[in-house]
Amino acid sequence: MLFNRARHFLLAGLAASPFFLASCRAELSDSDLAAKARAIHDRVLTVDTHCDTASRLPGGTWDIGVRHEPGRRESGKIDLPRMAEGGLDAQFFAVFVGQGERAEQGYTRAKEWALKTLEAIQGMVDKYPNLVGLALTPDDAVRLESNGRRAAFIGMENGYPVGKTLSNIEEFYKLGVRYITLCHSRDNDICDSSTDRQGPEDRGLSDFGREVVAECNRLGIMVDISHASDRSFFDVLKATKAPIIASHSSCRALSDNARNLSDEMIRALARNGGVIQICFLSNYVRAPQPNPGREKALQELEAKYGARRDIQDEAVRKKAMEEYEAVNARYPQEKATLPELVDHIDHVIKLVGIDYVGIGTDFDGGGGVQGCDDVSEMFRVTEELVRRGYSEKEIAKIWGGNVMRVFRRVIAVSSELGR
Ligand SMILES: [Zn+2]
Repeated sequence: MLFNRARHFLLAGLAASPFFLASCRAELSDSDLAAKARAIHDRVLTVDTHCDTASRLPGGTWDIGVRHEPGRRESGKIDLPRMAEGGLDAQFFAVFVGQGERAEQGYTRAKEWALKTLEAIQGMVDKYPNLVGLALTPDDAVRLESNGRRAAFIGMENGYPVGKTLSNIEEFYKLGVRYITLCHSRDNDICDSSTDRQGPEDRGLSDFGREVVAECNRLGIMVDISHASDRSFFDVLKATKAPIIASHSSCRALSDNARNLSDEMIRALARNGGVIQICFLSNYVRAPQPNPGREKALQELEAKYGARRDIQDEAVRKKAMEEYEAVNARYPQEKATLPELVDHIDHVIKLVGIDYVGIGTDFDGGGGVQGCDDVSEMFRVTEELVRRGYSEKEIAKIWGGNVMRVFRRVIAVSSELGR
């Protein structure tokens, strides 16, 4: 008590000094900070631009409307009750299709799988109308949030299901798709990937890819360059009439990985008015510690199966995932931490300002860091931002304001183009 009083008088004296403002942030106790962060978190619109949870929906055996205990593999990282718990208002659910053969049969299968996933997302919305609604515009998300419901946006991860048929894009748009990640971990007919082990040659965006970008601009679909190669990225910037997004990528300056954006790319993205949505995948947040046993086991696994998520045969993919989990159990890897993740947000802000950064977790696609490992812990990001002195206005931009600004501009460009 005496201590608190003495502290009170000390603070009253300090309030008149210029040092007070600088020191008052440090005066917030942990519980005051948590309460302040929670209040801000509840007021701002929180948007995550990437998760792979929708891949769990087709088949109907896993129920997104039921709370699953965090930390268990079978629980996944996102369900609707945990979204509410973590205060996440809007989620872009990715319609993910792994890259397969670039021929008619492959395109047909890819489109079938995409339609199946789209149907499953619609099924979720139909089954749980009190918990979630489909969002097609930023205004939809705001309206759903004010009703206390979650907003489900749809993105498509990999343009592979478009095949070589441009009209597929409008078909997907009509089913709710509002961004398209042009490629995944391998090159496709649209552009080259940042991680294609087929060869070092980077051909960038193809002629067909330019048509895809133009069609997205025309329809009001955000073009997503996460996974694209550096050359593809710069080609897209030249081709697009609207701002673009990186729905789940981090900063190469902090973790040297081809999936992350270099400072030069982040500057170019800011000039375009776009946004980088920081990804929670541990290796993108910090370069992994050397772990020779693990690296050897993973190399062997890759030699055997190639990229696991691109395996087209479901039984083979399941087996590869099981073997991957066994490697994880045998050679565990310490994950990056939440403060290290927020360092990426700081980095973008120092580089280009507050208007070009957001959050794209990649939950259920490999994302998760110590301190924020599933959607129920999302408010911890806000806690860390408050701890670092960000204002509510700045936090609102990071959490969704920036990407919704891009989305609104993309819609405006679409109507300017006379759609
Ligand atoms: Zn991805």
